Amino acid sequence: MTLNIQNIREQFPVLDQEVNGKPLIYMDNAATTQKPKEVLEALSDYYTHDNSNIHRGAHTLADRATRAYERTRSLVKDFLNAAEEEEIIFTKGTTEGINLVASTFGRKFFTEGDEIIISTLEHHSNIVPWQMLCEEKGAILKVIPINEKGELLLDEFDKLLTNKTKLVSVVHASNALGTINPIEEIISKSHAVGAKVLIDGAQSSAHLDIDVQALNCDFFVMSAHKIYGPTGLGVLYGKREVLESMPPYQGGGEMIKEVTFEKTTYNEIPFKFEAGTPNIADVIAFQKAIEFVNKLGKANIRNHEESLLNYATEQLSLIKGFIPVGTASKKVSVLSFLIEYMHPFDVGMMLDASGIAVRTGHHCTQPLMNRFEIEGTVRASFSVYNTKEEIERLIESVSKIAKLKN
Ligand code: PLP
Repeated sequence: MTLNIQNIREQFPVLDQEVNGKPLIYMDNAATTQKPKEVLEALSDYYTHDNSNIHRGAHTLADRATRAYERTRSLVKDFLNAAEEEEIIFTKGTTEGINLVASTFGRKFFTEGDEIIISTLEHHSNIVPWQMLCEEKGAILKVIPINEKGELLLDEFDKLLTNKTKLVSVVHASNALGTINPIEEIISKSHAVGAKVLIDGAQSSAHLDIDVQALNCDFFVMSAHKIYGPTGLGVLYGKREVLESMPPYQGGGEMIKEVTFEKTTYNEIPFKFEAGTPNIADVIAFQKAIEFVNKLGKANIRNHEESLLNYATEQLSLIKGFIPVGTASKKVSVLSFLIEYMHPFDVGMMLDASGIAVRTGHHCTQPLMNRFEIEGTVRASFSVYNTKEEIERLIESVSKIAKLKN
């Protein structure tokens, strides 16, 4: 199905504005996507009509809010094809999902000499929590190297896997380069040595079909704000038996069964991991984002984004001084590049002057930048509401900028 992009754009009020006297071209979607009207309206509707605390209230508003909150859990379960709603835990985002696993699974099951494998492509949020755990437990962090194109070296991964590997935690799609990792192979090889696997789906969940049962991963984390949903909200999927084996993350209301001063017993999953009043409004509004994606169809979204990525890559590569960073054969719609003799930040500022919003810098992947011996890149990342005309304006602007020094 060919998507009607103009129709889609009309659902995103933020796109209808000028920046620096030019129509806004938003190409910073890997950082966060814009929100359709339905999401904005759901937030306002909740606070206008249903605002109430969930799970505990005996009154109608609390019941409405609880049912709406739990309906999102059910939609997320289908979105990821999890086996059960109880395997879906709401978090603040991908970062909190990973920290939750490091703090609970990690603290309980890691001992000195145990090994964790991550990759060179990881976002800082899939590096630092494991470093903290290693420091605390005397565990060892190992890193899968990459080739010049930004693809994982699977032969090297094979060498890193041992019977001491407790966890393999890798990104599904790189936020800095776009590389899609062969996670199916990584998961099955990791399981063969008895390791659990966490997949960082922050960048994949908006573009690729996710089926956690078919993947057979133990954990999958994502952020709502990268899938047209609200900020400050994410999801941790975990297999029931793994989640049940883990201690709670934070203590407080909601996560308990019974509290006495002598002993507290904990609630069942998912509530065991959702202490305190959660982000109710954003969870409820997230439904609309999921419905938006489901209605368009991920395959259609991906086709559109892929055609933008291919066109942009092809045309920008003709510009003298244009240097792509990350040229993997399988990518989500992320295009990282440098302009010879220019600092990425200066390129970003000049693009902003033309109304084009891109990201510059290390993209929270400093070790990856070190691998390429660069400080950072300019990153344009495309979403379903971007158009070929916008790509043409990007090409035109980059071409003018490159001519200043090339
Ligand atoms: N992992 C990847 C691959 C990301 O791209 C990001 C955000 O950019 C994160 C983790 C962290 O996500 P959040 O800041 O929403 O917790």
